[in-house]
Amino acid sequence: MKPLTEPEIRAAFVNCTKGEASRLNVPRDLAEQPWDDLDFLGWRDPQAPDRAYLAAVIDGRTVAVALRSSGAASWQARRSLCSLCVTTHTGGVSLLVAPRAGKAGKQGNSVGAYMCADLACSLYVRGKKEVGTKLHESLTLEEKVERTLANLAAFVAKVTA
Ligand SMILES: [Zn+2]
Repeated sequence: MKPLTEPEIRAAFVNCTKGEASRLNVPRDLAEQPWDDLDFLGWRDPQAPDRAYLAAVIDGRTVAVALRSSGAASWQARRSLCSLCVTTHTGGVSLLVAPRAGKAGKQGNSVGAYMCADLACSLYVRGKKEVGTKLHESLTLEEKVERTLANLAAFVAKVTA
C-alpha cells in the first residue's frame, strides 16, 4: 500500500470523535513501516494495550478504525482463525470490537471480529512472520492478499454502515 502520513491517518478515523482521533497514539515509526508488504496498517496502542487501530485505503479512500480488545477472555488458548487474513494461530487471535460510526456507535452498537492479535495480517500472509500451524492452502499470494482486503473492506463496511 502507499505510505500514509500521521495527519492522513488521524483524518481518516470513521468511528471516533475528532478529539479522540487527534489524541490517540499513531506509530512514531511510520517512515520505517514495511509499506510494500502491507495491505493495511494495524497497530496496538503501546500505552493502552486493549486499544488497537487499523488504517487502510479502500476504494481509493483512506479509512481508519478504532478497535478495542473485548477483555482477557478474547485470548483463546485453542487454535483460532483471523477473520481478515485467515491465518490460524494458537493464542494469537483477539476478538476486536469497533464502535460503529455515527449515531449507531453513540447508541453503543459495535462490530466485532477475530483478528491477528498484533494486526500483522499482511506479514503472515506473505510468510514474513511465522505462525505455529500453517493451513495448507492452494491460493496464490495475490489471491490471499485480495481475500484479506475483501474481508477488511467487508468489516469496514459494517462499521460505517
Ligand atoms: Zn490476520
